[in-house]
Amino acid sequence: MLEQLTLLVKPAGADCPLSCRYCFYRSTGPRGGRMGEATLRLLLEEALATSQHLHLIWQGGEPALMGRGFFAKALELGRELAGPDQSVSHALQTSGTGLDPSWAPILLDGEILVGLSIDGHREVHERWRGPSWQRARDTAAWMLEAGVAVNALSVVVRGEEDSAAERYAALRDLGLAHLQFLPAVDRDPNQPGLAAPTAVDPWAWGGFLLDLWKAWWPERHEVSVRNFDELLASYVAAPPVSCASAERCGGYLVVEHDGSLHRCAFLVDAADPVGVLGQRPLIEVLGSPRQRALGESKAQLPEDCVTCAWRPRCHGGCPYHRHDQTTHLCGSTRRVLDELDPQLRALARSLRGPYQGLRRNEPCPCGSGLRYKRCCATLPTPGR
Ligand code: SF4
Ligand code: SF4
Repeated sequence: MLEQLTLLVKPAGADCPLSCRYCFYRSTGPRGGRMGEATLRLLLEEALATSQHLHLIWQGGEPALMGRGFFAKALELGRELAGPDQSVSHALQTSGTGLDPSWAPILLDGEILVGLSIDGHREVHERWRGPSWQRARDTAAWMLEAGVAVNALSVVVRGEEDSAAERYAALRDLGLAHLQFLPAVDRDPNQPGLAAPTAVDPWAWGGFLLDLWKAWWPERHEVSVRNFDELLASYVAAPPVSCASAERCGGYLVVEHDGSLHRCAFLVDAADPVGVLGQRPLIEVLGSPRQRALGESKAQLPEDCVTCAWRPRCHGGCPYHRHDQTTHLCGSTRRVLDELDPQLRALARSLRGPYQGLRRNEPCPCGSGLRYKRCCATLPTPGR
């Protein structure tokens, strides 16, 4: 049995009431279906037969389209089916659409960490997402008021790489203290070997992170920025925060609403799943040649990475983002580490202690308010 398994579950497939123009989920995965209770039960039974600790990341599309009742059922079934030494933790990635304060008891009861898509001020947020900022802002407000753990997810598109300070200030003004900035790095659907026109410029994205560092540094004891947690993880010998910075990937699966299993959030192909719930044990799917090949492809590094001083920090990034034998974000990784390495080393010296010998039930040193086993100890999430 595995010690830990992470599943990205899309209970509403790629469906979402918003139409964010850069959203890659719109073009991947089945639409128009919903996960039924039988599939939910099968999912939990199979996952708990595979792993001691199960981490479920509910995402999509918009998972909140499933309604509160679905998540109440997921919590109930998780508790019913988990053995005495097992646990199930949950995270929910949402635009805030479909959530209202009546969700607070479920989110609190399940210690569900919410990743809320909110890019910054209204103008920045609605440039790509359409009129949805007010709802996201209101959702952030009631969740913080209720004590729900919220992580802001802010997507940065090419041409916006100079907006770090402005975005940081806007999210802090809303009271958010756990922030993550996601560079758009998708492939061009018309030329799959190249980055999409919306993909950030690598050098400029490095500048974004350096500006962000300057904005964050004075508040580093109160605010966590996941981008810097990711950089710091290798310095403090903590588990990688994202699969992109791990040595290998392929350790998690995507579960679609119909029970089909896929290798990675970027590799959902409705016509070609890597498995289907109920057809063979998850442990076999994880060990299947196709799943192993994904992990091995990450370890087959471009030539530049093999001799790169930053390889132990970056491990060549996400293979999905390699174009022409180059990792799209390589330039930003080099720029940031060239400049911040001394400060990261110093910061690591002050942080190394909290992670060493940490027990899984202790509070997570990153400051999320969750237990370690439900936070930084969970397996990597997709490197986007
Ligand atoms: S997101 Fe990238 S690093 Fe993560 S599993 Fe997929 S291909 Fe691998
Ligand atoms: S910084 Fe660039 S060259 Fe170095 S390991 Fe990362 S992707 Fe490879």
